[in-house]
Amino acid sequence: MAHIVVLGAGTGGMPAAYELREKLDTTHRVTVVNAVDYFQFVPSNPWLAVGWRERAAITFPIRPYLAKKGIDFIPQPVGRIDAEGNALEFPDGSRLAYDYLVIATGPKLAFEEVEGAGPKGFTTSVCTVDHAEHAYQAYQELTRNPGPVIIGALPGASCFGPAYEFSFIVNRDLRDKKIRNKIPMTYVTSEPYIGHLGLGGVGDSKSMLESEFRNNDIKWITNAKVTKVEAGKMFVTELDDLGNVRKEHELPFQFSMMLPAFKGVDPVAAVDGLCNPRGMVLVDEYQRSKKFRNIFSAGVCVAIPPVEVTPVPTGTPKTGYMIESMVSAIVHNICADLTGHAANAKGTWNAFCLADMGNTGAAFIALPQIPPRNVNWFKKARWVHWAKVAFEKYFIYKMKQGSSEPIYEKHVLKWIGIERLQENRDGGN
Ligand SMILES: Cc1cc2nc3c(=O)[nH]c(=O)nc-3n(C[C@H](O)[C@H](O)[C@H](O)COP(=O)(O)OP(=O)(O)OC[C@H]3O[C@@H](n4cnc5c(N)ncnc54)[C@H](O)[C@@H]3O)c2cc1C
Repeated sequence: MAHIVVLGAGTGGMPAAYELREKLDTTHRVTVVNAVDYFQFVPSNPWLAVGWRERAAITFPIRPYLAKKGIDFIPQPVGRIDAEGNALEFPDGSRLAYDYLVIATGPKLAFEEVEGAGPKGFTTSVCTVDHAEHAYQAYQELTRNPGPVIIGALPGASCFGPAYEFSFIVNRDLRDKKIRNKIPMTYVTSEPYIGHLGLGGVGDSKSMLESEFRNNDIKWITNAKVTKVEAGKMFVTELDDLGNVRKEHELPFQFSMMLPAFKGVDPVAAVDGLCNPRGMVLVDEYQRSKKFRNIFSAGVCVAIPPVEVTPVPTGTPKTGYMIESMVSAIVHNICADLTGHAANAKGTWNAFCLADMGNTGAAFIALPQIPPRNVNWFKKARWVHWAKVAFEKYFIYKMKQGSSEPIYEKHVLKWIGIERLQENRDGGN
């Protein structure tokens, strides 16, 4: 009998636990450990930050849903991973032994890298449900006292989609409130150009998003290195393509939402030999730690090199479907290991994303994630807004049902050319 522990119950961890439970026979035990006792659907946070969602609609208590599937749950933050001793340690000193560990701890939000940034400083965030609630307070103040808005991404950020989404959502909401004319908006980003998205662009994302910004009176600064934030003022060094200083800006703002760079969470980053210098887990093509052969990892916490070097550092995003593909590979490989076979499943790591733009939206598919690509598709359409709303309901339903890949998803995504696991061209099982 093996004990498989999934650390982190987010977009990666929850499906991992369900899929493991589904594939493994009941002689094996599955336990989920998560810092908090609720699941949050992170992609809906931008809606919460303008009051389009309530917290209760995008969160739910984890325990009863895992219990229904026979999965144990420990709602406590892990303080230390004893990778040599195959155990997790909790702040109260207790230990949880494992045979296999799946790390899906998401990001540590590195606001401290820019003085004054983040919810403890002067900018807001939509990275967690708590942050989005705090952002909504600040947003309500903006609607009472209109002034300039800055939305964007700090140096080293890798997740840009939500910053674009939030720009268009705020724009839409302020128009609906008929106060957009009192609020200048600027998108400030470490990306080298609009629509880069940490992916070197996808299809014609550059012209399309520039055009949308122009059509919606949103100005922008790219190659932007935010160096400091004070109350109501952001200090930005704008670089040119060669990395030389082009201009220094002191931008006033009444409301700002800036996405931070991501690092690995402390107990993961602290394991000697597990991570890169940013604390992201180094895995092989089978999602397995290069040093600890019984540790696998999926999601934002996995180390992926940047698609290209940019004047202000940027990283590569990890999107939901890509994360699920990592999860499927891990489950397959743990099952293989338990039955004495070699791990041979590889996640496709394809980027597929639906981005809301208020009353319309943009969908993109990048297959593979790193160019040149077989599929490079970026499209703006009204149906994407509704598809994103439907996806929210569907994902939350899926996480409550305990199903990790219903037939509908399998076939629809296959139809548009997305598969979770790479075909095994080397033979094996
Ligand atoms: C605002 C926002 C919007 C996004 N929108 C989209 C989108 O529309 N589409 C898309 O494809 N991708 C989107 N993404 C990217 C990505 O899909 C999400 O970030 C996703 O939630 C990442 O999943 P994850 O499992 O890696 O991490 P998370 O979902 O963040 O889960 C990590 C879990 O680990 C737990 N944890 C952390 N440390 C510990 C510890 N020490 N002990 C115990 N538990 C711990 C946390 O409590 C958390 O529950 C978005 C990202 C952001 C930030």
